[in-house]
Amino acid sequence: MSRHIAVCSSLFATLFLSACLSTEGDGAAVLSSVVESAQSGDISGDTDEKNEARLSAATDVFKAATVSDAELQSVTLQVVAELDKTNQVAPASSKYAKRLNKLTRNLTNEDGLELNFKVYLTNEVNAFATADGSIRVYSGLMDLLRDDNELRSVIGHEIGHVKLGHSLAEARTAYLASAAAKVAASEGGLGAQVLAELGEKLINAQFSQAQESESDAYGVEFMKRHKYKVTAAESAMRKLASLEGSENGSKLFGSHPGAKERADKIHELITAK
Ligand SMILES: [Zn+2]
Repeated sequence: MSRHIAVCSSLFATLFLSACLSTEGDGAAVLSSVVESAQSGDISGDTDEKNEARLSAATDVFKAATVSDAELQSVTLQVVAELDKTNQVAPASSKYAKRLNKLTRNLTNEDGLELNFKVYLTNEVNAFATADGSIRVYSGLMDLLRDDNELRSVIGHEIGHVKLGHSLAEARTAYLASAAAKVAASEGGLGAQVLAELGEKLINAQFSQAQESESDAYGVEFMKRHKYKVTAAESAMRKLASLEGSENGSKLFGSHPGAKERADKIHELITAK
């Protein structure tokens, strides 16, 4: 028995490292405690029951930690389909859909990523992109950013989150943190409620300041690459900064303090040689 545990604990240690690299979810925490107890050396003194419980927890984490990118992409597609069903998608005849179609006409494949766009009709100032290349823009954001290039700069920023791997990492964290999703997956399908719960997490993704800075820089490069008016990236951020702290505060950027600082940083990027 003790030899078996020793073999497992080195396997756990390897998994733990990869889990730490890829997630911050509760899976890593469970695995961490399993590894610590396995490494503490007093396992032989424990009852079989305790060991069984540890192994069962570790097996669950093992399954979660091995969720492949392909599996996550498939879950993401299901989540987006559910979001499109539960949000009010602007019909093709609406002024919002017409405007978005027009200004994204050339954006079908960005940097190897196939894109698809829809407008959600809501006063909320928001936009998000998911790992499969779906981009959803809220009509509230379109009302705030009347300049097409400003809207394009937000789209470029959102594409950045996908291309830089932030969106897939976020999907992994949400998926691993959702006990309901793990159970549903093991039973052969994710129900509407679980998909809605995951959708909520992806829409309200809390990216780190570093990830936001990286995506801002990606957005500036995106504007340059397409020869769009690059200063629109700065003016869009200033408009979003003006909402900070207000009731209409944008979830898009308002969740992080410092939209003004980010606008200043974008200004530096634009004016740098
Ligand atoms: Zn962002």
